[in-house]
Amino acid sequence: MQIVIAIAVGLALTQLANLATTVYLHRDLAHKAVQLHPALRSFFKVFLWMSTGISARQWAAVHRKHHAYTDDPEDPHSPARLGWLRVQLTNAVLYRRSARDPRTTERYGKDIPVTLPDRLLLNRGIIGLAFGVAILVWWLGWVPGVVAVVVHTLGYIGLGGSVNGVAHTFGRRPFDNSATNVTWLAWLTCGEGYHNNHHAAPTSARFARRWHHFDLGWWFISVVSRLGLARVRHADVDTLVARTSNSVPV
Ligand SMILES: [Zn+2]
Ligand SMILES: [Zn+2]
Repeated sequence: MQIVIAIAVGLALTQLANLATTVYLHRDLAHKAVQLHPALRSFFKVFLWMSTGISARQWAAVHRKHHAYTDDPEDPHSPARLGWLRVQLTNAVLYRRSARDPRTTERYGKDIPVTLPDRLLLNRGIIGLAFGVAILVWWLGWVPGVVAVVVHTLGYIGLGGSVNGVAHTFGRRPFDNSATNVTWLAWLTCGEGYHNNHHAAPTSARFARRWHHFDLGWWFISVVSRLGLARVRHADVDTLVARTSNSVPV
C-alpha cells in the first residue's frame, strides 16, 4: 500500500510540475502571454526549484531560442535534425547543454532579472532537488520516498521529451508550422500537447482552440484571473493567427 501511495505522490508531483511549467515558465515568463500575481510566480518558482532543479531564467531562454530557430541548426532540440527518438530520450541532456551556454541566457533571457534569492539559492538546482528529496523521504520514508522521486523524475523528463519530440513529429498540423497537436499529450501535460496551435500563436495564453479541448493550464489561468491573480494578454489562437497571416486553419 505504501508503494501505491508513493507512486500516486510521484504522479501528482509530475502533474503539479507540468502545471507550473506550462503556466509560469512557458505562458508567463517565456512568452508573456499572461502575467501571474507575484505570489503565484514565487510559489511556482520555488516548487519547480525543489521538484525539477530548473532555473526559471534558463528555461525561458532555452525555450525562446527554440521558437527563434525551430528546426534550424541552432534549435536546442529539433527532431527534424536529430530524430524524434533522440529528442524523446535525451531531451534533458539537450536542454542542459543549451541552458549552460551563457550566450543562451545572455541573449534570450536578458529581460528576466536575476534576484538575490536567485543568486543565493534558486539558480542552484542541486540544492532545490536535495530539499525536495529530503522532504519526500522525511514524509514517506526511505523506500517510498525514493519510489516517488523515481516516478516523478521519469514522468517529468519523459513528458518534456514528448512535447519537444513527439509534438514536433506525429499528430495534426492545422497551422503551417512543424509542431503538431497530440491530444493524449495535451491531457498529460496540462495543454502543452496543442503544440502546433502554440507555435502558430505563441503569445496566446490559451493553447486549445475549442472549449472542450483539454487545456488544463488555460483552465487554471481562467480561474486565477477571475480571482485577480493573473492578467491575460491574449486568449484566442485563431484571432492572433488571422492578424499575422492569411493561412486558414483546417
Ligand atoms: Zn516547439
Ligand atoms: Zn513556447
